[in-house]
Amino acid sequence: MQVLRETNLQGLALAKKLGKKGTLELLAKRGLVGRGGASFPTHKKWERALSVKTNERFLICNADEGEPGTFKDKFLIKNNSETLIEGILIAAFVLDAKRCFIYLRAEYDSLRLELEKIIKKVLKKSKMKVSIEIVRGAGAYVCGEETAIIQSIMGRRGQPMEKPPYPTIKGLWGKPTVLNNVTTLTCVPQALLYEDWNPNYRLFSISGEVEHPGVYEWELGVKMSTILGTVKPKGKMKAMSFGCFGGIMPVYKSNRVSPALICDKNCHHGAYSLIFVGEKKNIVDVNLSMAKFYTYESCGKCTPCREGTIRLVELLKKIKSGQATNKDLKLLKELANHIQETSLCGLGASCGNHILTGMKNFKKDYKGFIKKK
Ligand code: SF4
Repeated sequence: MQVLRETNLQGLALAKKLGKKGTLELLAKRGLVGRGGASFPTHKKWERALSVKTNERFLICNADEGEPGTFKDKFLIKNNSETLIEGILIAAFVLDAKRCFIYLRAEYDSLRLELEKIIKKVLKKSKMKVSIEIVRGAGAYVCGEETAIIQSIMGRRGQPMEKPPYPTIKGLWGKPTVLNNVTTLTCVPQALLYEDWNPNYRLFSISGEVEHPGVYEWELGVKMSTILGTVKPKGKMKAMSFGCFGGIMPVYKSNRVSPALICDKNCHHGAYSLIFVGEKKNIVDVNLSMAKFYTYESCGKCTPCREGTIRLVELLKKIKSGQATNKDLKLLKELANHIQETSLCGLGASCGNHILTGMKNFKKDYKGFIKKK
């Protein structure tokens, strides 16, 4: 991705020249998929909203980047904001959206004033009659979920809603609403403009026990040795966690970081946030701190997640204390699976991933705490 501090709106000009259909076709050809974690084809999402006959559609740019270890959107808002606004304007043009929103996480409030200036500048240059409003989140992780964002923008409590209907059909004030992540929208102008734009490049947020944490761009399938050589681990690395929700797997230098490998370890790549864990850490401790995070962030709307996240912490504490038996391990696994299967939204559906993958990929760490009879 090119970091461009200024845009000359060439991507928007091309979209207008191609028209809505032509723009959608070109995005499909370039292979742009969502960068927020779900990897859903961007043109398909837009087409779904366009399939609804209506007098109004909305666009929401999801800048509620709350996943632990994820900060690539923050980097783009700071360094590529004009291209982001151009991407929003292209989406607004294709969708006929007159009102667009940027849902900015509370912790990024320091970026708001500068972003407001950029919005004014780019809107003026574009001469489009569109409003782009920044809505500040209040610090809830669950408000990264699309239906919760919609509730929050409408002034209601930021809690997820049942799907379907999906927001592309029925979203803000009952109208079709497209939600795209900051990175996805920033990619739109460049994907349209450059024939050699490569859909397999991703921004990686790197953190944990490394000398050089930060945002890097690599092609999917990048060698682990390349990543480690760049970010300089502090000692031998034992594990990498994909944010909190994607699970945790061992670090092997010979591996390539590809969706197939990640999936093979029962993990999910999400937004490619790699948190490195050194060899001295016990994975039970890592899982316990993540489980506490979920307990804090559960919105409490549905029972399995509200109550279950607390029980997961209790069980992990028991394991750590050395008082647990194999029965507790079995219960932990069952409970994590049960919460995943019965929760209303992605938070509950993913809150057991780190435990299940921790138990599977780091059996020794768990077994080491189990009481010998
Ligand atoms: S799964 Fe958790 S975060 Fe999601 S709605 Fe239920 S209680 Fe709220």
